[in-house]
Amino acid sequence: MNPAQASWFEAPQRDIAAALAAGRLAHGLLIHEDPGAGGLEFARWIAQLVNCREPKRAPCGECQQCRWILADQHPDVTRLSPEGESSQILIQAVRDLAADLSLTAHGSGYKVAIVTPAEAMNVFAANALLKTLEEPPARTLIILVSSQPSRLLATLRSRCARVRLVGPTRSEAVQFLEAARGAGPWNDALAATAAGPFSMLDADPAALAQLRGDTISTLNDIGSGQLQPPAVADRWARGDIAVRLACLESWVTERILENAGIRDVTHLSGAGRAPNICRLFELSDAIRDMRKLAHTSINKTMAVETLLWRWAKQ
Ligand SMILES: [Zn+2]
Repeated sequence: MNPAQASWFEAPQRDIAAALAAGRLAHGLLIHEDPGAGGLEFARWIAQLVNCREPKRAPCGECQQCRWILADQHPDVTRLSPEGESSQILIQAVRDLAADLSLTAHGSGYKVAIVTPAEAMNVFAANALLKTLEEPPARTLIILVSSQPSRLLATLRSRCARVRLVGPTRSEAVQFLEAARGAGPWNDALAATAAGPFSMLDADPAALAQLRGDTISTLNDIGSGQLQPPAVADRWARGDIAVRLACLESWVTERILENAGIRDVTHLSGAGRAPNICRLFELSDAIRDMRKLAHTSINKTMAVETLLWRWAKQ
């Protein structure tokens, strides 16, 4: 399946194609994607659009240009992402990119640079890219992909045309994953971590659905006092703690949204029935704090236990 056929790409694809046809496609584009909505794949689609050999039905997805781009092997299309263990894109990588962009394209199309996630550029790298954006060589396209554009330099943002890539509804995401990966418990798997479908292309949906079921039943038991946090903390800490915390956060966010949707709460004032939104927000903050620390050497069992005591029946 060609990832560019994701149904939620259609509207922004029309906008980009119209801008190109009218000769007003900006040299710098900032794709603001919802997490997992496919910003990189959308950027590749743009690279295909401007380089495809079949102008009447570009991007055809079948010509050599299109296929090279899909396989990340096109000599004129460069992707810049953090390399190895590093979480940053460094200045030397941007300088190399700028030098490459200043050369003539191998083919007859555009030279395209895709920077993803763009917020991974440190301040020196971002400033170096700014220079290229200010004086772009002819027939070049610089595409920044970010789910957190507020973390980019304002000067960088202001030199790019913004393309908003809104993520799909849950049912669109399920349909997309069924087409890409076949049948599976995709609805529960997507709900487990609230991740977008493009981040699920290599995931095991059954394992995620099971993790979600286990998380919910454990939280219910702790909330009702049937289970004490120490009985769970070690098991959770020994598993994939990052995914477990994502699952916890997704569940708490769902409860917050559910409660925020209730305007008239008078009928919920009976003892024990009122949704305690403050408690949910506190738990949400604590989960987020722990997600920041989960990859460090903290005592995970103790941290999970502390977290779950916030939810335990007092
Ligand atoms: Zn093509």
